Amino acid sequence: MEKIPAKKTSILIIYTGGTIGMVHDSKTGSLVPVKFDRIQEVVPELKRFDFIIKTITFNPALDSSNMNPISWIKIARTIERNYNKYDGFVVLHGTDTMSYTASALSYMFENLDKPIVLTGSQLPIGQIRTDGKENLITAVEIAAAKRNGASIVPEVCICFDFKLYRGNRTLKRDAEQFSAFRSVNYPELAVAGIDIKYSPEFIYYPENKGILKVNTDFDDNVVILKMFPGINQNVLNSILNTPGLKGVILETFGSGNAPTSRWLSSCIKKAIKRGIILLNVTQCEGGKVVMGQYQTSLELLNAGVVSGKDMTTEAAITKLMFLLGQGLKPAEIKMYLNKSLRGEISE
Ligand code: ASP
Repeated sequence: MEKIPAKKTSILIIYTGGTIGMVHDSKTGSLVPVKFDRIQEVVPELKRFDFIIKTITFNPALDSSNMNPISWIKIARTIERNYNKYDGFVVLHGTDTMSYTASALSYMFENLDKPIVLTGSQLPIGQIRTDGKENLITAVEIAAAKRNGASIVPEVCICFDFKLYRGNRTLKRDAEQFSAFRSVNYPELAVAGIDIKYSPEFIYYPENKGILKVNTDFDDNVVILKMFPGINQNVLNSILNTPGLKGVILETFGSGNAPTSRWLSSCIKKAIKRGIILLNVTQCEGGKVVMGQYQTSLELLNAGVVSGKDMTTEAAITKLMFLLGQGLKPAEIKMYLNKSLRGEISE
């Protein structure tokens, strides 16, 4: 009998911008984004994978400091449109806000069963010592990886400097080192050495395989308010009284602590009474908020602030924007903030 040839693995690379595809502007000397459609010429190693690799370049390509919910939606819609045609997706993205985009995408995709791997680089791909080639090649291999016909990592993740992280657990921790990202509160999903070693026990595999749904509604009436010693009443008051404000990420000290000044709890209580949702996350890179552990967080708990437990600020602000955009009741939003939607928080 004639053998039917196995279907070739196909990967879509979406170049959104960022250093990986940047060149030095001849006039100013600054790094500016360029088109990225000739990727296989720049990285000929990609041809050695027996994959079909297609690219889409965003026009304009963005420095990721210019990314916002509209850009997240554009990425999500591009993947949705091509979802059935490809086995996996690699999103090339600037490192500065990659953790925010990865978190936002993780909430947007419901019933994801293919990898969406974000990567970028600290040095442009055209430079001799670039980290971009290694990051891109590993990301493509991970996006294509299957076991028994199913994707090994059906998650939104970040692949950087030989490590694969759950995207909504990461933060950019270094502006110079090749190891730009960390995921302190959740283990790596894979480590690339001689082989790529996956840790299936940490990868999320959906139990019920529903059809893919992409939710693209966000509400940007939110703010991140970082506590610091000496914060004054005027400043806090004017932030919390911003017209239209609906949600606040309160970045507190240590395990969720803030000054116990009367005026501070009173400002917070008044904001909560006005229907503003306040979510407490720590300023530390790792560890979690335990409200009530100290007197300095008990006040917040009593005022009605929600605990963000071990969520990163990046995961928390995008989750708040996402939940506020879903038209839920405040009690439902508070309930979901405290629960894992896509593995962004430990329950
Ligand atoms: N500013 C750049 C960006 O985030 C930095 C990078 O790509 O690493 O787009």
